[in-house]
Amino acid sequence: MVEFDIFLDKDELWATDGTSTAFDVQNVATHEAGHTLVLQDIRSPKDCGLTMHAYTWKGDILKRDLAPGDILGVQAIYGE
Ligand SMILES: [Zn+2]
Repeated sequence: MVEFDIFLDKDELWATDGTSTAFDVQNVATHEAGHTLVLQDIRSPKDCGLTMHAYTWKGDILKRDLAPGDILGVQAIYGE
């Protein structure tokens, strides 16, 4: 991989302050950047706090950084 682009949907409202009425830029960008590490989407509801969980919602800031499960995923691929 040489580069990647992330496009934020213009039809959605975006914010950087975690407001409950918009999607958080860092939250979504961190998730999407995780895919560049070959991390896959996780869909189990019990794992909704993981950065690589497939779904987000307005005001969600849980995915701004890596959760322990995300770190384990990276370590499983690349080693510690
Ligand atoms: Zn994803």
